[in-house]
Amino acid sequence: MMNDDKKHSRRNFLQHTLLGGAGLGFGVATTSEVQAAPTPDAFTAEIEQTVDVLVIGGGTAGHVAAIQAGLAGVKTLLIERGAQLGGAMTTGGVAFPGLFDAWGKQIIAGIGWELVKESVELDSGTFPNFAKVPQHHWQNQVFINQFLYAILAEEKCEKAGVQIAYYEFPQAVTKSADGWQVDCIGFGTKRRVTCKQIIDCTGGAEVVGLLGLPRLREDERQPGSFLYMMGKAHDPGRNQIHRLYVHGADSTNSRTVTTANLTGRKSILEELRKKNQRLMHLQPETGFRESFRIEGETLITVNDYRSGKKFDDAICYAFYPVDLHTKSGVKPEPLKPGIIPTIPLRALIPKGSRNIMVAGRCVSSDRLANSGLRVQASCMGMGQAAGAAAALAAKANTTPLDVPLKEIHDLLRTHGAIIPGDV
Ligand SMILES: Cc1cc2nc3c(=O)[nH]c(=O)nc-3n(C[C@H](O)[C@H](O)[C@H](O)COP(=O)(O)OP(=O)(O)OC[C@H]3O[C@@H](n4cnc5c(N)ncnc54)[C@H](O)[C@@H]3O)c2cc1C
Repeated sequence: MMNDDKKHSRRNFLQHTLLGGAGLGFGVATTSEVQAAPTPDAFTAEIEQTVDVLVIGGGTAGHVAAIQAGLAGVKTLLIERGAQLGGAMTTGGVAFPGLFDAWGKQIIAGIGWELVKESVELDSGTFPNFAKVPQHHWQNQVFINQFLYAILAEEKCEKAGVQIAYYEFPQAVTKSADGWQVDCIGFGTKRRVTCKQIIDCTGGAEVVGLLGLPRLREDERQPGSFLYMMGKAHDPGRNQIHRLYVHGADSTNSRTVTTANLTGRKSILEELRKKNQRLMHLQPETGFRESFRIEGETLITVNDYRSGKKFDDAICYAFYPVDLHTKSGVKPEPLKPGIIPTIPLRALIPKGSRNIMVAGRCVSSDRLANSGLRVQASCMGMGQAAGAAAALAAKANTTPLDVPLKEIHDLLRTHGAIIPGDV
């Protein structure tokens, strides 16, 4: 079922080559589409800056990673290709994070949880009772106001000294003497960043792909969903909105995302016409459940997940049923009583790499384990851990794997996180 995606690695390598060869004036057509002629000068930066930690992707995991790195006192830049922070939680509209609790106790806390809590309190919302084991897992997810959450996340970044750059994405990444040189483009902006550490929080491990490091992807992926509200008003932070499957949704590039968005919106239009109802709310983008995952130093298997394996280098818990959506829907498979899976640091580190980590749904895992690991509370836990490890590595001029685990745990605890074994 799981494919070692050599084909994709190879294509990324060629794309990398195409960029590298651009200055020499030759091009390699990597797809059947016509490629634009390469420009003679590939990259003339308007902005050049040096930071310790560069986080790419400001979604569920990324904003937490950046805030943690900033709070640890290292210079941190967060590059986000969209218009706001929060990713699937805000732009995707899945404003329903879970699961912060398991079997009657809170198991994920820290920076992401504090933000969720603050947004619920400021919005006069309510919390589930984590002391109670619910009949259905989703009963302990938290309704948040997606709009408020995105603003609060920006405020937290500012307080932590994190610089945010919207509408930008990396075009090329190369190794430098003590880290990386990352060329980013946005409209009207060319930015060259020199950094010691990269945290790839793009959802689909796009930076790892740019570097040609191995990634995994299924031929058939879980459907995406487009979120909207029909017939009655959306009451943010109080109700779930309607969602419609977008089969074949693929977050790989701007063309595939465009296709998913067009397909999703067209289906919603059909639904409105069929039901003759008013459109009251529409998210700007498809929510993607699955794309690339990294092949990390450790790969979490569904057996590890189902058995609640306590990894030696565990950095946070995760908790959710195995939850694979297919063409015919989803039948969540709850974890057995008492089981609480853990996430190892090594699953955030691309195999054989130095100075780059990932956090979020692209964590190194097999497909079924990933269907449970990908949820928002776990992504936030991973984000905070990656932020801590990258910040400590930057300070010590080393790579995250060489930072003593105890230092990572201590820093995480200082910022409210729960380390497996603590509860
Ligand atoms: C429809 C749907 C329903 C779900 N239901 C639930 C649920 O009920 N509860 C739950 O907890 N979880 C749920 N999930 C899962 C969860 O929301 C996601 O798996 C999780 O939010 C992913 O977090 P992430 O940080 O990995 O990615 P994202 O939150 O998607 O963030 C990735 C960010 O990176 C940015 N980015 C991407 N590429 C680049 C680039 N090249 N350069 C710069 N920026 C880039 C994106 O714009 C985005 O902001 C659901 C997911 C979907 C799609």
